[in-house]
Amino acid sequence: MKDRIEIIQGDITRSDADAIANAANTSLLGGGGVDGAIHRAAGPQLLAECRTLHGCETGRAKITRGYNLKAKYVLHTPGPVWSGGGHGEAEKLAGCYRSCLELASQYGCKTVDFPSISTGVYGYPVDKAARVAVSTIADYLASHGEIERVRMVCFDARTKAAYDAALSEL
Ligand code: ADP
Repeated sequence: MKDRIEIIQGDITRSDADAIANAANTSLLGGGGVDGAIHRAAGPQLLAECRTLHGCETGRAKITRGYNLKAKYVLHTPGPVWSGGGHGEAEKLAGCYRSCLELASQYGCKTVDFPSISTGVYGYPVDKAARVAVSTIADYLASHGEIERVRMVCFDARTKAAYDAALSEL
């Protein structure tokens, strides 16, 4: 399944995947970073739909339409805030990737793009986060042939290097 995982550098708001993930917060009412960028690109209807969802637990995911995005769906998932690694952060981060992929399967998505969840404002060390992300994605793909491709869309070169390294270590 390693051949179905790709690491690229880019802006996830321009993604043409069937679904993109959003590194949301538990309110699902928008925020900074990639969340703000996705809401700006999708338009105000995205926030209107998010208001109907009544938030989301850390490590879970909820789906909306993509509105003005090329992607048909947005998978909103609040990542864990890093607080040293002893507070279930890795399990919660794995839960984000797994929950998004489960929703993608349910909604018939064949391609899914993720940003680097929790490694911005939430402070998760990117090397550790990348290992959790790629191993969780690989495990899911091994038993779910309906998903043809998962991409990590990294905003900067340092983040891309961390995901490239994690994928090559798999
Ligand atoms: P979190 O709160 O989960 O840490 P952030 O949005 O602060 O989320 O950061 C998560 C990652 O998303 C960071 O690596 C950040 O550089 C990246 N990012 C920000 N804007 C975009 C974008 N338009 N496309 C892809 N990644 C982005």
